[in-house]
Amino acid sequence: MPKFFKKVLVANRGEIAIRIIRALHEMEIEAVAVYSEADRISSHISLADEAYLLGGPIASDSYLNIPKIIDAAKKAHVDAIHPGYGFLSENDEFSDACEKAGITFIGPTAHVMRMMGDKVQARETMIKAGIPVVPGTAEPITSLLQAKKISQKLGYPIVVKASAGGGGKGMRIVHSEKDLKKSLEAAAREAKSAFGDDTIYIEKYLESPHHIEIQIIADKQGNVIHLFERECSIQRRHQKVIEETPSPYIDQKLRDKMCKIAIQAAKAIKYTNAGTFEFLVDKKKNFYFLETNTRLQVEHPITEMVTGVDIVKLQIRIAAGHPIPFKQKDIVQTGHAIECRIYAEDPLNNFLPSPGKILSYRIPQGPFVRLDSYLYLGCEIPIYYDPLIGKLCVWGINRKEAVQRLSRVLKEFVIKGIRTNLIFHRQVVLVPHFIHGKYDTHFIDHEFKLSQTKPHQPLKNMVLAVAAIDAYKKGRETVGTVKREYHISPWLRVARTEGLRHSNRGFI
Ligand code: ADP
Repeated sequence: MPKFFKKVLVANRGEIAIRIIRALHEMEIEAVAVYSEADRISSHISLADEAYLLGGPIASDSYLNIPKIIDAAKKAHVDAIHPGYGFLSENDEFSDACEKAGITFIGPTAHVMRMMGDKVQARETMIKAGIPVVPGTAEPITSLLQAKKISQKLGYPIVVKASAGGGGKGMRIVHSEKDLKKSLEAAAREAKSAFGDDTIYIEKYLESPHHIEIQIIADKQGNVIHLFERECSIQRRHQKVIEETPSPYIDQKLRDKMCKIAIQAAKAIKYTNAGTFEFLVDKKKNFYFLETNTRLQVEHPITEMVTGVDIVKLQIRIAAGHPIPFKQKDIVQTGHAIECRIYAEDPLNNFLPSPGKILSYRIPQGPFVRLDSYLYLGCEIPIYYDPLIGKLCVWGINRKEAVQRLSRVLKEFVIKGIRTNLIFHRQVVLVPHFIHGKYDTHFIDHEFKLSQTKPHQPLKNMVLAVAAIDAYKKGRETVGTVKREYHISPWLRVARTEGLRHSNRGFI
């Protein structure tokens, strides 16, 4: 009998499905893939031991369709399901459906997912647990008067947020009372259309903060450890683009304090499996809880590179009821790791999505380079899903070496047939503030502004990058309820906005 599970279904696609299949195989567990019609020849299928077609390319017909996934899991007689990230990974109904079918969901409990998925409830829970949260409302906003009072107390600027939020949706920064009414209405409207829930709340808008998150691992026996922090402040419109660990911003004292608080928070909610506690850190190095991601993070590989811990294998062990096989004191942060998210988008054409066929490529290699990707020669990048095609990660003995290595591998990486944002990353590594690790969440905006007075090539390209972010964000439309996130393809959305039509040769 296998020590953990015999067979596990991976309810995802692309690079993360492959990442999970690899962990399963190393643990001698059979891997079952699921796929949509758009992914018939995708590489996650060829790596799996068995594969089941779910349905059409639209996510609601395939990767977001709970009955179809449970049906495939039953047919394949799996013991467990790994949801990856995105799609159904934070969906408590999916977790409940797995439990009902007698299948282990590899992740935290449905109860914890429900609690943390509602940001107002998550803030309330953290306040009760003695965790510092971003100053703001403890309850949803129900009237303009209430909003005015709290905003005056906090002092402008403030930020209005959707309780069911994610991906920056329903977020509005308000600089003065005259804009408050309009912003509350707009945020509620956007939240309703994106998540089917117009509950909004208010936070103080922190000036130039850092986004720093702590990776937590908790087993069912009550042991909770941390795997240190990740610095995720290089963002385009509130979405991460480049992540690194350790953070160049925090010192050991602050690191210890934040990790301790994250463990306290995880224990307070009886968290199990892998999870991330996100914080904002202000100019005075005060830190505040932002949200909990109750799943594997996109950027988990950089933590693996500096700790030597395979987070996906740990998730599987813990879900099977095994304790964490080491102690906190055994985990040290060694060296420095950086990740660039590689998207199929065209930097020279307003960062329009660039689906199509990979005609040739050169993969960056060499010491301490990791590429998590689903690319292969002739691979089709479909138009229906998130355009993330890979994650390029490097490790260095220190930050300087990691940045130098990143710069080298970005030059080596060639992808032909589609456009990618590689050029954007190549420009970022030339920016002095990045090289010296002196940046905050406004990095891209600041460099963009600079370019208007002092244009030079890297910054000009950053301007293009910012436009790309806009194009990409416009495409991240979500309809339906939080629980059933029916995503419209970001690419189709952008194409529609730009008035493009799709042919089988790509957008025309
Ligand atoms: P979402 O869940 O929609 O991604 P988050 O609450 O996680 O939104 O915030 C995403 C990003 O937005 C943060 O990393 C930060 O850059 C910015 N942000 C969010 N809240 C604040 C705030 N109160 N003050 C300043 N920046 C903020």
